[in-house]
Amino acid sequence: MKAPTATHCPYCALQCGMNVAAGSEESGAGETVTITPRQDVPANAGGLCQKGWTAGELLTGGQRLTTPLLHGEPAGWDEALDYVADRIRQVQAEHGSDGVAVFGGGGLTNEKAYQLGKFARTVLRTSQIDYNGRFCMSSAAAASNRAFGMDRGLPFPITDLAEADAVLLAGGNVAETMPPFLRHLTAMRERGGSLIVVDPRLTATARQADLHLQPTPGTDLALALGLLHLAITEGHLDEAYVAGRTTGFDAVRTSVASWWPERVERITGVPVAHMRQAVAILGGAGRAAILTGRGAEQHAKGTDTVTAFINLALALGLPGRPGSGYGCVTGQGNGQGGREHGQKADQLPGYRKIDDPAAREHVARVWGVDPRDLPGPGRSAYELLDALGTAGGPRALLLFGSNPVISAPRAGHVTGRLGSLDLLVVSDLVMSETAAMADVVFPTTQWAEEGGTMTNLEGRVLLRRRAVTPPPGVRSDLEILQGLAVRLRGLFSGEHASAGADPARAFSTEPREVFDELRRASAGGVADYAGITYERIAAETGVFWPCPAEDHPGTPRPFLDGFPTPDGRARFVPVEHRPPGEDVDEEYPLYLTTGRVLAHYQSGAQTRRIAALNAVVDETFVEVHPDLAERLEVSAGQLLRVVSRRGVAEGVARVNPAIRADTVFMPFHWAGANLLTNPELDPVSRMPEFKVCAVRLERVG
Ligand code: SF4
Repeated sequence: MKAPTATHCPYCALQCGMNVAAGSEESGAGETVTITPRQDVPANAGGLCQKGWTAGELLTGGQRLTTPLLHGEPAGWDEALDYVADRIRQVQAEHGSDGVAVFGGGGLTNEKAYQLGKFARTVLRTSQIDYNGRFCMSSAAAASNRAFGMDRGLPFPITDLAEADAVLLAGGNVAETMPPFLRHLTAMRERGGSLIVVDPRLTATARQADLHLQPTPGTDLALALGLLHLAITEGHLDEAYVAGRTTGFDAVRTSVASWWPERVERITGVPVAHMRQAVAILGGAGRAAILTGRGAEQHAKGTDTVTAFINLALALGLPGRPGSGYGCVTGQGNGQGGREHGQKADQLPGYRKIDDPAAREHVARVWGVDPRDLPGPGRSAYELLDALGTAGGPRALLLFGSNPVISAPRAGHVTGRLGSLDLLVVSDLVMSETAAMADVVFPTTQWAEEGGTMTNLEGRVLLRRRAVTPPPGVRSDLEILQGLAVRLRGLFSGEHASAGADPARAFSTEPREVFDELRRASAGGVADYAGITYERIAAETGVFWPCPAEDHPGTPRPFLDGFPTPDGRARFVPVEHRPPGEDVDEEYPLYLTTGRVLAHYQSGAQTRRIAALNAVVDETFVEVHPDLAERLEVSAGQLLRVVSRRGVAEGVARVNPAIRADTVFMPFHWAGANLLTNPELDPVSRMPEFKVCAVRLERVG
């Protein structure tokens, strides 16, 4: 057995530290890989969930792609890369640069996310790039930027939560999505603190709560307005903090004046007494945190919903105080880093805006190109997928680390769009549902087979280390991008090229070299990595950004001395409740909400291939309340059909009093749930409304 290598879990944003030991130098089918948790990483400190414990199967299982596929047939790497480059040239000759689009992922390392953005803008010269993180925490990011001038998931170390006296978690089920997170909340409760959970379901996390608020899906915003109304009227306003560290409170005070608790109870279904109890707990706590997850964020009003919770946190004087604050519980493994380095439609590295002339100048200088040649902002994720194959939309798509056939809203429609393309190229480690549609599939290396950095939900930059040798035949995304860059050249050739521009050098395949360039590109930006080195990350078990210089300690709590806004103050923003994009009616009388189960991750492309996880749950299901089951004469185990205006899905009935009687739940790890979901977009974040739509139930047979 090789000596274990310290690295991090391939899955969620907690990025638990783990040691990976391979049976021999090379892994592969039949080999043994042993995983043990690391004690030195504060996020998990010796804990892992069942997804992490079984992640070795991804390395040794037999379902791995190991050769490029060209129209479903094995092909050589040169043949596949030549084909893709030729087809890109043809499509761009006919449809212009934006005829080719790129779709990235929140699981890609920082180096890959950075290189993907650079490749799109300099080689393809397309504005059409976005990523699946748009479907994850974009509403919280938009709200945090609006209020604080910065979006860093938790703007404090996760261990601060154990020191709080109260935590309110809105729309997050960490007991199933990232179980080691729970130990920080448990430590808080053991010290006498209180946990408040807001969720339409009595989830595993809500069962641990001292107080569970169970609103109707799509009404979290009204609930947050009601809590702020009560915080003000019941004397919990931190007037000194509001006066000294914020702006805009008067407008918010006026806007919540009409959100008296009885009105909020009528809209949300949450009893007034529960609201009063929540406000008393938060207002009476010396240190408190308000956290949001996808349940509050994945709405067509997600940005305003998070803003309402931030307004509540500001009124209570929490952000920027030690042991207190507002934070977003980011979901995907590199959901944080993935949104900082330029694979978003509107961003350049360092969390810079792509339409900011100074940002374009800086990044173009690092890339050795003319800023006038860089494209501007493109379409957001769903808008990009929706435009594929249409007149004026992209005709070709290069997709890295994402599986939109399962994970996109209105997935049946998106699948149709993907099927209408002239060219679909997918880079993945397994034959996902989207890869199965592709003209070309590139087989890639995965987590423990490669190096790089990941930025976890705390904004702590971590080192992913190579622990096993990848199987013969696979290449890293960095190698794929270099292979295409050398063939296509883009701004690195002809009249636009700076002297000596060489695409092979501009697109290094060495993660450390890419990271060093990323550091320069991010320098001076909001997400400043300039002072972070691989050596420092290893020595310090992670470094918090912003970190502008190598002798800078990093910034665990960026808001302690002020907020990165022009006047240094956090901004209250007045927001109003509005109904979901699609409300229930006679034809579709039930709310559908979607979420996760403990054993699976995201679209399930990886976890559905792990026997131990399938042994826990291996098919989708429809959770219904006993009253609803009785009314519809449905029993547990019966096959149900769920119908929305966009599609039909089937699942086995689970009858469970933990859910509201007006709501059904489906997990989104299998084909089904997202055939139903509503793609209506948040006007600010462009987040689709995954978390609520109207459906009806039918018994099958
Ligand atoms: Fe930790 Fe998340 Fe991996 Fe589970 S899935 S072991 S919580 S990083």
